[in-house]
Amino acid sequence: MSSKNLDGLLDEHTWMDPSALHRAARRVQLSNASHTSRREQLLKLADRFNDALAPHTACKPGCSHCCYMPTLIYTHEAERLAVASGRKMNDIPPRLVETSLRTAAKVNGTPCPFLSGDGKCSVYNDRPLICRLHHSLNEDPDDCRVGPHGTVSPVKRYDVDVIETPYHLLMYSKKRPEGWASIHEFFSTD
Ligand code: SF4
Repeated sequence: MSSKNLDGLLDEHTWMDPSALHRAARRVQLSNASHTSRREQLLKLADRFNDALAPHTACKPGCSHCCYMPTLIYTHEAERLAVASGRKMNDIPPRLVETSLRTAAKVNGTPCPFLSGDGKCSVYNDRPLICRLHHSLNEDPDDCRVGPHGTVSPVKRYDVDVIETPYHLLMYSKKRPEGWASIHEFFSTD
């Protein structure tokens, strides 16, 4: 696996240093702002991360391999997609993480319900956090093609947990826990 060259990224964007990024995300997570405001701030941080990384990734418009992977989202993210798309969502109650992961694995290789025929996301501006963070630092975008047991080749990525973990911790801190399930389960047609 050859991978993209990240030289110059940290010179231009010192805030992208993983420790600095994690501290920034933790500051948001632990701030006194409302839950909704903190969620939105983490989404903005994910977008900033995505913009800075974009010149170094294999990701291009129309490439949609990652939209065939199990995409796990929270109830509030599904609600946003329901408003943006006008589609009815299923109510998924909070449950064990293992149950969500096991159920989501069954849709591996199935296109996301919001993937358009031209390979573009039909809800791009409202897409969940996990979609904003996902990327590949490999040279070949086809390395992300999904096989029966995951991607066809190992895919190198920047450490997105520095933002994703504070996001999960923020969600776990809610008094009323939300459902967390694959986007397919929230928007199944059965
Ligand atoms: S919401 Fe959009 S970006 Fe995310 S998996 Fe679906 S089609 Fe892809």
